[in-house]
Amino acid sequence: MEGVKSSELAGVWKRVVVVGGGVAGSLIAKSLQFHADVTLIDPKEYFEIPWASLRSMVEPSFAERSLIYHKDYLTNGRLVVSKAISISNSQVLTAEGRLFTFEYLVIATGHNDDFPKTRSERLKEFKIVHEEIRAANTVLIVGGGPTGVELAAEIAVDFPEKRVILVHSGSRLLEFIGPKAANRTLDWLKSKRVEVKLQCSVDLNVSSYETKTYVTSSGETIKADCLFVCTGKPTGSAWLKETAFKDSLDSFGRLKVDENFRVKGHTNVFAVGDITDVKESKQGYLAQKHALMAAKNLKVLMSGEKETKMASYKPQTIKVIVSLGRRDAAAQYPWTTLIGRVPGLIKSKDLFVGKTRKQLGLDARMSEY
Ligand SMILES: Cc1cc2nc3c(=O)[nH]c(=O)nc-3n(C[C@H](O)[C@H](O)[C@H](O)COP(=O)(O)OP(=O)(O)OC[C@H]3O[C@@H](n4cnc5c(N)ncnc54)[C@H](O)[C@@H]3O)c2cc1C
Repeated sequence: MEGVKSSELAGVWKRVVVVGGGVAGSLIAKSLQFHADVTLIDPKEYFEIPWASLRSMVEPSFAERSLIYHKDYLTNGRLVVSKAISISNSQVLTAEGRLFTFEYLVIATGHNDDFPKTRSERLKEFKIVHEEIRAANTVLIVGGGPTGVELAAEIAVDFPEKRVILVHSGSRLLEFIGPKAANRTLDWLKSKRVEVKLQCSVDLNVSSYETKTYVTSSGETIKADCLFVCTGKPTGSAWLKETAFKDSLDSFGRLKVDENFRVKGHTNVFAVGDITDVKESKQGYLAQKHALMAAKNLKVLMSGEKETKMASYKPQTIKVIVSLGRRDAAAQYPWTTLIGRVPGLIKSKDLFVGKTRKQLGLDARMSEY
C-alpha cells in the first residue's frame, strides 16, 4: 500500500478521524496514513514537542526543530486546522461547521492549549518571552511541578545573574515523584541560587499584573519583572461533555478506556494519551506508547481480523526525568533515584527532540525550514 494516495483508495480504506495533533495524535495519524483514509483535526498547523518549550523560552532557535508542521509527517492524510466541538457515533463537527464522517475515531485531545495557529507566530512568541526574560531582574515562577522546576532551572543556568523565585503551594516540589528525587532537586535549585518558597501561594489578581507586584500567602510582597504561571493546563475534554460520550468521562474529565484503548461502550472509538483514565502518570513517552499500540489495534480491526488479536496495555510504573538546565537532570526509576550529569546525559542536551522527530519519520537534526 506504501506510496498509494488515499484518494485512489476512497471507498476501500476505512475513514479514521484523529482529533488532537499533540504527542499521541500526531504519532497515530502518521502511523495509520498508509493504512487508512486519515483526517487529523488540530487547532494548529503544527505539532509542538511540549517538553522543548521551556528551553525555547531561553533559546528561541531551539524551537525551530520542536515546532513541526503537521504536513511534514502527514504526507498521505488530510489536515484540518480547527477545533472539534462535537461528535456523534459517526461524525465529528468542527468549529467552522464542517462534518467529518468516520468508521473509526481516535480522541487524543490531552490538554487544551491557547497557542497561536501558525508556526511563525509561535516562534515569534518564544522570541518575545526570551526578550522579557533577558530584560528582567527578577523572575517569579508559580508552580513547583515539572514545568515550573524545569523553567526555573533553564533560567538559572542560562541567566545566573537573575533573581529567580519559585513559589509552590505544596510541602515539596515535584509531588508526582518520590520525596528523595524532589529533595535532591530542591538542593540543586538552591545551589543555583533559585529561591524556593514551599507551602506558599501568590494572589494573582488584576492589579498584581498591572503593578508587577505580587503578594504571597505568607504576606511577603514580591516585585517581579516577569511572571510565569506553571500550574497545569485543563484536560481537553470539555467539548465531549454534551455528546454521546459524556457517560464515558470520569470525574476528572478523562475518557474511560479498556486495555485495547477503546473508549468503554464504543467499539469503533479509541482514546490515547493524557485524555485517558489509564492509571499511570501522564507522560509524553507513555502517550507515544499508547499511540503505537492503538495504531496496531486499529489495523487489526480494519483488516477484519478477530478482536482477540488486539494487543493489551498494562499501565506502566513511574519513570521520570526532569531536566535541570542544559547538563543536569533528576531521574526517578522504579529501582533508583539519580541527580546530576548522568541522567542529564540522557535528556538535558537535546530534550528528546531528535528522537521525537525521528519517530515521526523526520530528520533528527536538520530543520526543514
Ligand atoms: C512543559 C511540559 C514539559 C513536559 N515534559 C515531559 C517530559 O519531559 N517527558 C514526558 O514524557 N512528558 C512530558 N510532559 C508531558 C507530556 O507533554 C504529555 O504527557 C503529552 O503531551 C500528552 O500527549 P497527548 O497527545 O495526550 O496530549 P497533548 O500533547 O496535550 O495534545 C493534545 C492536542 O489536542 C489538541 N486539542 C485539544 N482540544 C482539541 C479539540 N477540541 N479539537 C482538536 N484538537 C484539540 C491540542 O491543541 C493539542 O494539540 C511535559 C508537558 C509539559 C506541558
